Amino acid sequence: MPDELLRVEGLSKRFTGRGRNVAALDDVTFSISGGETLGVVGPSGSGKSTLARVLLRLVEPDAGRILIDGEDWRALSPKTLRRRRGSIQMVFQDPLSAFNPRTTIGKAIMDPLRIHAVVDRDARNAVMEELLQRVGLSADMSSRRIHEVSGGQRQRVALARALASRPRLVVLDEALSALDVSVRGRMLELLVRLQAEEGISYLFIGHDPAVVRMISHRVAVMDHGRIVETGDADAVFSDPGSETGKALIAAIPTWRRSGSA
Ligand code: ADP
Ligand code: MG
Repeated sequence: MPDELLRVEGLSKRFTGRGRNVAALDDVTFSISGGETLGVVGPSGSGKSTLARVLLRLVEPDAGRILIDGEDWRALSPKTLRRRRGSIQMVFQDPLSAFNPRTTIGKAIMDPLRIHAVVDRDARNAVMEELLQRVGLSADMSSRRIHEVSGGQRQRVALARALASRPRLVVLDEALSALDVSVRGRMLELLVRLQAEEGISYLFIGHDPAVVRMISHRVAVMDHGRIVETGDADAVFSDPGSETGKALIAAIPTWRRSGSA
C-alpha cells in the first residue's frame, strides 16, 4: 500500500444530557493508506456513524487527532480548512436527506465544483456531465430531480457529487445497505473501479459482513465506541479474534457463509 493518507489518534466523543451518557467513541486509533479500503463493522450503536460524522467534522470530538497527509485537521486555520474540506467526502444511506429536493441533479453536482473552485465556471457543465458518466449515468440525468430517480441511481448521483470535490477519502456510511442485491453488486464494482483508477481511499461502514469483506482490504470491528479488533479483511472474517467479531460472523446465514468461503 502507498503512504498513509488518514491517521486517527485517540478519538473520543461522549454524548450527554437528558439522562444519557454514552461514549460513542472511546480512544479510537487507526490509519488508512492511499488507495486502501478500511471496512468498519459493529453492532448498532457501536459508534460507526459517529466516527464518520467526526471525520467529516459534522460532530466535534472531545479529544483526539485527525491527520490527513500528516496535517492535523483540528488545528488547521479556517482558511486552510476550507481549502482542504473537499478531501473527505461522505455518502449516506439515504441520499434523499442529503439533497435539496428542488434542485436538479446537475446543479447538485455542480455546487461542489463551484464551492471548492475545482473548475472555472465555463467548464463546470462539462465536468458535471463527465462525472455522471464516470458513475455510469447518462448526461440527461442532470435535468432531473433526486426523488425522480431510482435508489441505485440516487447513490450513483451521491457518489458523483462526492467525486466532484476530488476527495482523497470517501466515507460510505451504510451507503449500499438499502439497495437490492444486484444494484449493490454493481455499485461495489463501480467503487472498486474508481479506486483503481484514482487511488481514492474508502472508509466503508456496513452491517453485512459479506459485503464489507468483498470491498475491504482491512477491517475494524467496533463495539461500545471502541475498536476491538483490526486486521486483514479475510483474516478477520474467517477467524475473528474478538467476541464482537465472532458474534457478527455467527449472525451471517450459514448458506451464505459456506457460499462465500
Ligand atoms: P452506529 O452507527 O454504530 O449504529 P452511532 O454512532 O449512531 O452508532 O451511535 C453510537 C452511540 O451514540 C449510540 O448509543 C447513540 O445512541 C449515541 N448517539 C449518536 N449520536 C447521538 C447524538 N447526536 N446525541 C446523543 N446520542 C447520540
Ligand atoms: Mg450508523
